[in-house]
Amino acid sequence: MRAHNLALVLHTVANSTSPPSRAAVAGATGLTRATVSALVDDLVAGGLLIEVDPPPRTGAGRPAVGLALTSTGPAGLGLEINVDYLAACVVDLTGAVRHRHVEHADQRPADPAQALAALGRLAAAARLAAEADGLVVAGAALAVPGLVAGGLVRVAPNLAWQDVDAVAALRAVPELADLPVTVDNEANLAALGELRVTGGLSNDRDRSPGPTDAGPSGNSFLYVSGEIGIGAGLVIDGELYRGVRGWSGEIGHVTVYPDGRPCRCGSRGCLEQYAGQEALAVDEPLAAAALGIALSAVVNLLDVPVIVLGGAYAPIFATLREGIEAELRARVLTSGLAPVTLRAAALGPDAAMRGAADTIIRGVREDPAAWLRRSA
Ligand SMILES: [Zn+2]
Repeated sequence: MRAHNLALVLHTVANSTSPPSRAAVAGATGLTRATVSALVDDLVAGGLLIEVDPPPRTGAGRPAVGLALTSTGPAGLGLEINVDYLAACVVDLTGAVRHRHVEHADQRPADPAQALAALGRLAAAARLAAEADGLVVAGAALAVPGLVAGGLVRVAPNLAWQDVDAVAALRAVPELADLPVTVDNEANLAALGELRVTGGLSNDRDRSPGPTDAGPSGNSFLYVSGEIGIGAGLVIDGELYRGVRGWSGEIGHVTVYPDGRPCRCGSRGCLEQYAGQEALAVDEPLAAAALGIALSAVVNLLDVPVIVLGGAYAPIFATLREGIEAELRARVLTSGLAPVTLRAAALGPDAAMRGAADTIIRGVREDPAAWLRRSA
């Protein structure tokens, strides 16, 4: 009960537009003022909430002290390994990015141990920088361009990885040995990052206004991540759909030309041979058409109302848009009834590592009692 109420109080403060008083939190949660006060004391002592000065006095009576999430408490370490870069970021409890580092280097010549050792050094430096800022890294999550099951990277075709224990490799770095580390598919994590920014979890300082507000269908979308390979994350009613074994979203290996170019996966004519980052650099109109063909099949099958283009697609969204929409209009049965909404990802190329860091922060926000026990 206490664990549930701690989470409820933290959630109420996190979702308030201005720092609420203890009385306001009691009003919003239905808990008594005495209960809220005791819970707030624990959250303040545990470094999750801070008390902030009240706004200037406007009427009679003494204004109450407000409550806010702390920006010097627990933080999430988001990591990403992709075909042509390594990246690390640190996100604090309020959702603000406090540290970000991207190292561009082709990972294909490296074996998994070399690549993960290099990422481990980046992660250790990020943790050190975060701790110098007064943050406590609560855990790390790694985004990979491949299929993940049971904590193992089962296959990542563009990295030529098979059955790689990336978590063990990262925890072998002395500076990371004590951290909980998880691994997930990069498009899934990017889709979760996108959901957090556009799908209603407020209190994100990086929330961009305008076109990223997708309206009533903001909680159902297909996120397409364009890198050297192409992945997708399907979010339905605010929940990530992972597939029966956790392997859904491999849109990069949907066939767009049956007798087309050979793919690293062993098949031919896969989408990523026409719309992956390297093909995109050669022929943008062809990439847009290929994307439109593959996405039409997804929309016809799943009735997904919104497609979000992320990764390398986000910065060139404006030039890809018309070519993709032309295919959707021509190929989606229902396009005359309800056109598919196409938009650029709100977080751009950082979505996967941001989504990864967010999973750590979300863990703390959803179970502050566990964090308080850990840090006691
Ligand atoms: Zn393929």
